[in-house]
Amino acid sequence: MARLIIMGPPGSGKGTQAEHLARHFGIPAISTGDLFRAHVRDKTDLGLEAGGFMDRGEFVPDHVTTDMLKQRMEDADAAQGFLLDGYPRTVIQIGALDEMLAGRGQPLDVVLALMASDSELLARMLRRAQEQGRSDDTEAVIQRRLALYRDETEPVLTAYSKRGILLSVDGSGDREAITASAIAAVEGALAG
Ligand code: ADP
Repeated sequence: MARLIIMGPPGSGKGTQAEHLARHFGIPAISTGDLFRAHVRDKTDLGLEAGGFMDRGEFVPDHVTTDMLKQRMEDADAAQGFLLDGYPRTVIQIGALDEMLAGRGQPLDVVLALMASDSELLARMLRRAQEQGRSDDTEAVIQRRLALYRDETEPVLTAYSKRGILLSVDGSGDREAITASAIAAVEGALAG
């Protein structure tokens, strides 16, 4: 079973693509953003801690995020394969994930990166703000999240590119066409 990561800037549609890819490959999509939002909604201690960071567009501290992910990865559905959405987002988190997977004897197969222009990203996020009313989708917070992506998360892409497991897919345009090319790219890499 496949062990995948999907990456992409806020607004790139990675959450939506993650759902479709996970279904295709028969693995759970594990989104740290969704896990945090569930904690916020349920008003858990973790949710209270994470919510403030999220509303400001800041990252939740690495150790908090990593502990939450570790727990989710222990669920039975993630034992053999998974698609991570939103983790790792920092170079520190790469190391934490490496350690987690080394302990399980499970190397990563593919890191898929969705690419899109800043203007498209901003437009999509402002649209999502109206549709979903996410508290971190105001313009100032969006700009902060885009900047953090560039400063903290693009180095993660570089690191995986050096390992030779990064695949880039054009994330602009039709949702179904993007899913199809992402599936084709991942299947090609898994076969080859
Ligand atoms: P998007 O990709 O649209 O920015 P996500 O749903 O992936 O949104 O994440 C929402 C928020 O959750 C982030 O802005 C951040 O505050 C927090 N978050 C999610 N994943 C991580 C992570 N790996 N490390 C730190 N914070 C995270």
